[in-house]
Amino acid sequence: MPVLMYHRIDVSLSARDPVTVHLTVMASAFEAQLRALHGAGYRSLTLDDLWAALVEHVPVPPRRVVLTFDDGYEDNYTVAFPLLRRYGFVAAFFIVTSTVGKPDHLTAAQLQEMARAGMEIESHGQHHVDFSRLPLAVARGELLHSREAIEQWAGRPVTFFAYPAGRYTAPLERLLGDLHYRGAVTEVPGLVGPASDPFALERVRVDHDDSLEVFARKLHLPAP
Ligand SMILES: [Zn+2]
Repeated sequence: MPVLMYHRIDVSLSARDPVTVHLTVMASAFEAQLRALHGAGYRSLTLDDLWAALVEHVPVPPRRVVLTFDDGYEDNYTVAFPLLRRYGFVAAFFIVTSTVGKPDHLTAAQLQEMARAGMEIESHGQHHVDFSRLPLAVARGELLHSREAIEQWAGRPVTFFAYPAGRYTAPLERLLGDLHYRGAVTEVPGLVGPASDPFALERVRVDHDDSLEVFARKLHLPAP
C-alpha cells in the first residue's frame, strides 16, 4: 500500500531556493498524477482505514492509496484541495500548529473547511523540530497541545503524527502509543505492508522533478 508524501503544490514556481523547489510539486504534475491514479482505478484510503487494515486486519480493496501533505502550506488549500476534490480523493494534512495563520500557511478556517470535506488534519508538532532530540517531557507537551489545537480547529479527532524530518526513536513511538495516537508516518522509503509498524509507517516521496513515468514506476502503476 503506497502512502504518498507531498509538501507544497504550486501553480508557478515562485521560489528560487533549492530547499523550497525540492519540496514543490507543480500543480500540473500533481493533477496528472491524480488523473493517472484515478484512471488506473485507484481510490483514497484514509490513515484511519490504513490503521484498521494493519491493526484490526480489516480487508482493503485493491488499488488504494493514501495521500499525505506535510508542513501545512497555504497552497495545500488553494491548489491541492480543489484538485483532490475534482478527482474524488481525500488526503491527510500534517500541521505544525505554531505556523497556522502565519504567511504562506494554512489558517484555522481553511483547516476546518478541509476537515468538513473529509480531509484528515493530523499533527506535525507545535514546532517543526527534531523530535528524536527532544526530552520526552517536551515531546509529550508538543504531542498533546498540537492535537488539542488541531481538534479545536478541525472539529475531528487527531489520530496520527508525522515525525518532523522523519526523525524518530523507539521511546517516541511508545510515547505516541501512551498518548493514544494510532500511528505515525516517517520518511523511510517504501510501501506499507502487513509487517509495517503503525508508529513507523513507510512513505513514497513524490519529488519535484518526477515525470509521470517515474511516478507510475514508484507506485507500480501501468506505464502512462
Ligand atoms: Zn515537515
